[in-house]
Amino acid sequence: MTDDKIVLTGIKPTGIPHLGNYVGALKPLIELANNNKTYIFIADLHALNTIKDPKLIKQYSYEIAALMVALGLNLDNAVLFRQSDITEVYQLSNFLMNVTPKGLMNRAHSYKAIVEKNTAAGVDVDSGVNMGLYTYPVLMAADILLYGADIVPVGADQKQHVEFARDIAGYFNNIYGETFRLPEPVIGKETGLVPGLDGRKMSKSYDNTIPLFASESELKKKIMRIITDSKTPEESKNPDESTIFQLYSHFASKQEIEQFRQMFVNGGMGYGTAKTMLFDKINAVLSEPRKEYERLMANKAELDAILKDGAERAKLVAEKTIARVKKAMLG
Ligand code: AMP
Repeated sequence: MTDDKIVLTGIKPTGIPHLGNYVGALKPLIELANNNKTYIFIADLHALNTIKDPKLIKQYSYEIAALMVALGLNLDNAVLFRQSDITEVYQLSNFLMNVTPKGLMNRAHSYKAIVEKNTAAGVDVDSGVNMGLYTYPVLMAADILLYGADIVPVGADQKQHVEFARDIAGYFNNIYGETFRLPEPVIGKETGLVPGLDGRKMSKSYDNTIPLFASESELKKKIMRIITDSKTPEESKNPDESTIFQLYSHFASKQEIEQFRQMFVNGGMGYGTAKTMLFDKINAVLSEPRKEYERLMANKAELDAILKDGAERAKLVAEKTIARVKKAMLG
């Protein structure tokens, strides 16, 4: 990726991420952000259509800010801000409504999934759908186009939203002339699935997660609960079928992974020992960021200052875009 590309991504404040989110999304994002001009926003407006408790949204937003900084986001390079602090995003979202076909929204995967569920349940197709949810892709287009993003790193499930942003930018440009750069979705490098405590994909919906900043004692307790087979310590074990080994391989160096692999294959290592080694490894990687996270969460004024600085930097760009859009649309 070249230096002059602008990267943008939003993180929805919906609670502390787990180790799967860290390995699959946050760690690669921070690497990308530290090497490119990057805007990272805390998507509190997007959380509004599901979370109705303002205290919770605020708390979750602080958590995202603290964890990005604790994980090493370089704030000289990246602009970290709260989506709702930039009022221009509502304006742009409303302007874009006028060039967005309703049919496009009907085709959004997330909306279609609810329609299908409602149809199967025999209730009204739009049951439980508010306009925030229905027009979510327009707000997301506004997020992206406001900052002139070229690259939007997303999980495969979000790819369609970036394509919609590109479509909406195209409709706008066709009517009003070249105003927006066309963004591209970039699906992150395949990091491999992080397994949860029961061996299935680590996911909140399976209740098998290890929270990213679990305390040392909680981390140990969770790791000791990882489900294994009943092989004795002496027996040789297949590392590729072991949740312990797979989790370890996401945190250790190549050499350490190879040594651990041999310990599985050779036999002579019980699962208790393997779990202790896994705990020591994850704890070593996360203990400094955890301390920094806890320090920041106890210093909300510092987080407020970080977010204020980010908002000021983001606003400079947002104001210019809105001025351009108003001129194009209203003369
Ligand atoms: P979710 O909150 O489940 O939508 O996950 C957000 C992002 O975190 C996904 O798009 C993936 O990039 C990453 N992720 C979530 N769970 C895992 C997992 N078990 N292994 C690897 N990456 C994951």
